[in-house]
Amino acid sequence: MRRLLFSAPVTLWLALAPGCAPLFASRASPPLVASPTATGRGGAAATVDVRATAAALELLRAGGNAVDAAVAAASVLGVTDPYSCGIGGGGFMVIYLAGDKRVVTVDHRETAPLALERSRLYENGAPIAFDALVTSGLSVGVPGMALGWDEALRRHGSRPLAHVLQPAIRVAEQGFAVDPTFFEQTRHNVERFRDFSSSAALFLGPDGRPWPVGATFKNPDLARTYRLLAQGGPHVFYRGEIARALVDTVTRPPLVPGASRTVRPGVLSLEDLARYEVLVRPPVTSTYRGYTLHGMGAPSSGGLTLALTFHLLEAHAPAAMSRADFLHRYLEASRLAFADRDAFVGDPAFVSVPEAGLLSREYTAQRASALSLTRASTVAVAPGNPWAFQGGASAAPSAPSEPARPAAEDTVPDKETTHITTTDAAGNIVAYTCTIEGEGGNGMVVPGYGFLLNNELTDFDLPATVDAPHPNAPAPGKRPRSSMSPLLVFKEGAPVLALGSPGGSTIITTVGQTLVNHLDFGMPLPEALAAPRVSQRNSPTHASQAETEFLTSPEAAALTALGHGFIDAGPIGALTALRFHPDGTVTAAAEPRRRGGGSAMVVEPVK
Ligand code: GLU
Repeated sequence: MRRLLFSAPVTLWLALAPGCAPLFASRASPPLVASPTATGRGGAAATVDVRATAAALELLRAGGNAVDAAVAAASVLGVTDPYSCGIGGGGFMVIYLAGDKRVVTVDHRETAPLALERSRLYENGAPIAFDALVTSGLSVGVPGMALGWDEALRRHGSRPLAHVLQPAIRVAEQGFAVDPTFFEQTRHNVERFRDFSSSAALFLGPDGRPWPVGATFKNPDLARTYRLLAQGGPHVFYRGEIARALVDTVTRPPLVPGASRTVRPGVLSLEDLARYEVLVRPPVTSTYRGYTLHGMGAPSSGGLTLALTFHLLEAHAPAAMSRADFLHRYLEASRLAFADRDAFVGDPAFVSVPEAGLLSREYTAQRASALSLTRASTVAVAPGNPWAFQGGASAAPSAPSEPARPAAEDTVPDKETTHITTTDAAGNIVAYTCTIEGEGGNGMVVPGYGFLLNNELTDFDLPATVDAPHPNAPAPGKRPRSSMSPLLVFKEGAPVLALGSPGGSTIITTVGQTLVNHLDFGMPLPEALAAPRVSQRNSPTHASQAETEFLTSPEAAALTALGHGFIDAGPIGALTALRFHPDGTVTAAAEPRRRGGGSAMVVEPVK
């Protein structure tokens, strides 16, 4: 996440940068406000980065809608937050169409190549080491971003991709000041960037070290790539020169002579790129205490896991008990929900996901018997049997028979990804989470094109043996399970919240705890997203991961007395959100501190 370094000269630069005319008149535009919270009307956006939020506002002020604004922000983040997201990756967009009063989702998740048989990820009968897969061609899924942006704009935007990419082209050409977060992210990657000529040339200085804080970082190659997309549409990415360069990079990694590591090439082909499809799916819809939640369905586990958690929690009235007692129920509900998520959720094109059974209230009632009101579970809990509530389904696929090496998104809470929330004057809303998976993806910049490739296929689970069943085991053409949880919340048909976060599988609990904080504990949204976090994901040790500040809270002490254990996980997540107020104003809120803090803006601020 970028620090909010903007001063007046940079504000002017954003409005006046040559090359591409700004979409709004610079003289008429109010100064940028680099703040994590803003309230007003006429449209709003919140992202991790002030330039991305400014790009969204630029589109909104020029009459663009929430989808235009979200894609503009995402394309700028590809420049300013390249270690988290970009056209080398994929994402999930949840869109509220105010005119139709309808929610749709745009799945542009990365997809395994057709030649990626599961056995390619095993050597000598065992899964290839996780770190070796991360920095390899084998972990690269077919990127979905470029087609996802184009599809979302064609269906629901008001401006073409060529128009929406202009702010990002400007930022890539003109550059921006390296801040401490960008510097740190480069530093974490420096060893592997040194091993790839293209990555070193872009992200490291001539001395092979990260560009220092304050240096101007430019990415003319990415500007050119965005121009190619603007001129030729996604075709150039999936069938044209970018496709060829991408396949070359995956199959013949651009290693420097004498590189320090073994890098396994991948099997991605031009055919994989040409066949890539964006999938428009209905959301997963559930209810909680009078609110309606619209989340992302499989292959993301976000919407279903949140629904399961809040269905279990609904039987417990927050007003009737202490915060600690309610948090106990929340953590135990989350534990049960994650047991089901792990056992049943995978790419629905490859596995039967018992969605109706999982969402049925009869199943919730049965599952509730496993939730002790007075003691934390001391073991990882077993999944339930939603197939019994699925209606019409006969054979119930069994839970995985062998434990799998956990997917990347299950293990590390501070992985990179980013979340964008936008709304426009007409009331359309976008919650959009996108990623290249790990911080810096697979470490390889596509030579001449200025973007990093994803390592999204490490989100597959690898069972100990190559033929053991698992809903999230890799297969040719399959999308790995995600935890990304872009979420929209409504009450009586009116929007209340839009939110989402990075953070691997802690994304789900970060969104969940923010809902608890705001909807149940009554914290104002900015306080709800800043509060210390705790995350229970059916940990095998039964302990919850928690932020350092949470460990010293009165709630932690009370929970410890109920048998909860905690592991200090450092910062968890970095949420951005919108709160829609009954008077028609909107509060945009971004994370105030974690990962450097984010940026929220509204078109017409109110005091
Ligand atoms: N790849 C992860 C997922 O799809 C997101 C990356 C992260 O936030 O760590 O769930």
